[in-house]
Amino acid sequence: MTETSIKKRIYLSSPHMSGKEQAYVANAFDTNWIAPLGPHVDAFENELAAYVGVNAAAAVSSGTAAIHLALRLLDVHERDRVFCSTLTFVASANPILYQNAEPVFIDSEPETWNMSPQALQGAMEDAERKGALPKAVIVVNLYGQSAKMDEILAICDRYDVPVIEDAAESLGSTYKGQASGTFGKFGIYSFNGNKIITTSGGGMLVSNDVAALKKARFLATQARDPAVHYQHSEIGFNYRMSNVLAGIGRGQLEVLTERVEARRAIFERYYQALNYIPGFNFMPELKHTRSNRWLTALTIDEKQAGISAEQLIEALAEENIEARPVWKPLHLQPLFEGMSYFSHEESESISEQLFAKGVCLPSGSNMTEEDQMRVIDSIKSTVQLRAAVS
Ligand SMILES: *Cc1c(COP(=O)(O)O)cnc(C)c1O
Repeated sequence: MTETSIKKRIYLSSPHMSGKEQAYVANAFDTNWIAPLGPHVDAFENELAAYVGVNAAAAVSSGTAAIHLALRLLDVHERDRVFCSTLTFVASANPILYQNAEPVFIDSEPETWNMSPQALQGAMEDAERKGALPKAVIVVNLYGQSAKMDEILAICDRYDVPVIEDAAESLGSTYKGQASGTFGKFGIYSFNGNKIITTSGGGMLVSNDVAALKKARFLATQARDPAVHYQHSEIGFNYRMSNVLAGIGRGQLEVLTERVEARRAIFERYYQALNYIPGFNFMPELKHTRSNRWLTALTIDEKQAGISAEQLIEALAEENIEARPVWKPLHLQPLFEGMSYFSHEESESISEQLFAKGVCLPSGSNMTEEDQMRVIDSIKSTVQLRAAVS
């Protein structure tokens, strides 16, 4: 056996239970509230709504389901257009296709890596000229960093287009003191296994529009009309969260604040240890925002660092350390071939640059300092080795 094969694997972001979850789950078992729905679901919704400061929340089976419901509530349908951040996970845009609508992708800007207000403005002007304004704009807060919400909301207000805030990665972050995910008409969170808190799988739709969320719960439970017999007048989904998983979520929500602090501390340690390396540039934090630093991300300028992002990821993989590239922009995905795309500058696509140079480092809140030192040492020695041979 080689030395590397016995090194403990360090994951990008793995589930981190607090121990508080088990009491809630045990209660679900004791009362036989295994399914459907139940008191933990109601409580989890209320507790999360209070945490982020919105009027209502609806617990669902995934963040993707929450985005789909938001599009349905905004009456997005065939041939409608929906603007969406390009630098994101495919789940941000898949629900646009579920509704047979057409995504239009918007580039990032360098200060947040998120939706460029300039590109958004250009896309709106183009759409207005063509008489085809979008039905909605999906804004993503990448790796915990809020997008430039003031600028984006001002543009969307001017064109009277509602915003869906994809805060799947930014639960616990704030923008000017207000919780990320609460700026648009709808916000969504994800409790997938790799997110800052997890229910093993799940999501939440939030809004200040209580009536809309009541409709969301109706659509998410097969759109069953109020009748004793099973009667249905419109298409529904089976999207609700189970009471057992909501119990896990309640336990996780109790430690969310701690999880944010832990991830921020991880970012800080990486930053202090590695920022001196020429060509290493850590993801910025926009003034007046506080990121949950879900994943520590940086870009690597190969000319200065002597190593590319791809080479670093490979070198870490050999040490059994999981690092990943930044999301591949959706306008470059084969799935979305032929869809429109608006870049930050005519001749400059920020998301493509970030994709070419970006790396996400292991950032799980359950990573020990020792684990993190192993990542840091591996990066330093890889960079030194490259410098020595070049
Ligand atoms: C994880 C994620 C989603 C999807 O959430 P699921 O709960 O996995 O469906 C959507 N958008 C972004 C940006 C994500 O990171």
